[in-house]
Amino acid sequence: MTILPVIPISPDQPDTLQSGSGTTRRRPSMPPRHLADLDLAGRKSAMADLGEPAFRAKQISTHYFGRLVRDAAAMTDLPAATRERLTADLLPTLLHPLREQACDDGATRKTLWRLHDGALVESVLMGYPDRVTACVSSQAGCGMACPFCATGQQGLTRNLSIAEIVDQVVYLAGVAASGAVTGSPPRLSRVVFMGMGEPLANYPRVIEAVRRLTSPAPEGLGLSQRHITVSTVGLVPAMRRLIAEQLSVTLALSLHAPDDDLRDELVPVNQRWKVAEVLDAAFDYAAQTGRRVSIEYALIRDVNDQPWRADLLGRLLSGKLAHVNLIPLNPTPGSKWDASPKPVEREFVRRLREAGVSTTVRDTRGQEIDGACGQLAAGELTDASAGGAAADAEVAQ
Ligand code: SAH
Repeated sequence: MTILPVIPISPDQPDTLQSGSGTTRRRPSMPPRHLADLDLAGRKSAMADLGEPAFRAKQISTHYFGRLVRDAAAMTDLPAATRERLTADLLPTLLHPLREQACDDGATRKTLWRLHDGALVESVLMGYPDRVTACVSSQAGCGMACPFCATGQQGLTRNLSIAEIVDQVVYLAGVAASGAVTGSPPRLSRVVFMGMGEPLANYPRVIEAVRRLTSPAPEGLGLSQRHITVSTVGLVPAMRRLIAEQLSVTLALSLHAPDDDLRDELVPVNQRWKVAEVLDAAFDYAAQTGRRVSIEYALIRDVNDQPWRADLLGRLLSGKLAHVNLIPLNPTPGSKWDASPKPVEREFVRRLREAGVSTTVRDTRGQEIDGACGQLAAGELTDASAGGAAADAEVAQ
């Protein structure tokens, strides 16, 4: 059913599996411990274990979260021996860049990463006149199997660690700070968990990553919780757990259909938690945080874009603390589906607004570099797009 990420073979990596077809990939496994996995107290005790003075915890945290320095070798105010110990024990390289692509005149950049076990994930940086947003992955692949989503076609490889998530953001914050995103402020201010994976299926690590991103420096990156968006297919128990966390992150719910018949197909997890139940959980989240939930709806031609579905969605959301974000479908390679024609899209918007529901159409950033919503599918690398890295596709499931 799926094409799994293709892994460049490197002779110095012993931890490999030999498949029947002769291609090689490494066994999915969590990465070594990293500074960003730990809170400040954890870093202090890690320093004690390394025989370093406790103040080092704050010192390296200031480097990493305050100055966005990710490499111990560049922390030149530390003794050389300390830098070496840190590289080995607290600042291993988690994300190896395979390829960077830019489009939209440099305002959108996608980075493809190879993780320590060869899994591939992507992050996207999007610059706007008033803000810079990082779109990050929470899992390698995804187990939710939404048929219109490129990542959904891959299946799940593994959860990302807290630090693998946080390090994507710290890297992208560094790119923004370097002034590389022309026409945008240099400070990264928003993070959306809309890259690869289902964030709420990697719940504890995503929540800890959010804590790291929002704790004030030097413990964390000091972003505002309200500027972090967690997007979910609608895992109701996890949404309920999120309500209990008392965080004020923005919740996005990928609804895509207002009726169970169609949603069962477009978002298969709907077979377990139905539209009414998932919306209830979303509205409860909105009530608890006082923040509108964002209802994500990819408009697919002749599939979910009928006027009656707009009206039904309008009835479900009217009077609720919700905002609809319509996403023109980005067709994935080989997909039978296409985006809705503009007049159909406009009518859909009109009907929702008529029902009193605030509605916008998402701008489709990054399409030329397959960096747009649902296009992050590292598994579809070809020789050319991998920049020469070995890229034998392997059918694994
Ligand atoms: N698993 C999370 C995050 C996934 S990506 C979730 O489903 O919410 C973020 C958004 O992009 C989701 O709303 C997802 O449904 C949407 N998306 C996925 N593939 C898409 C595609 N091909 N075109 C448009 N939107 C897509």
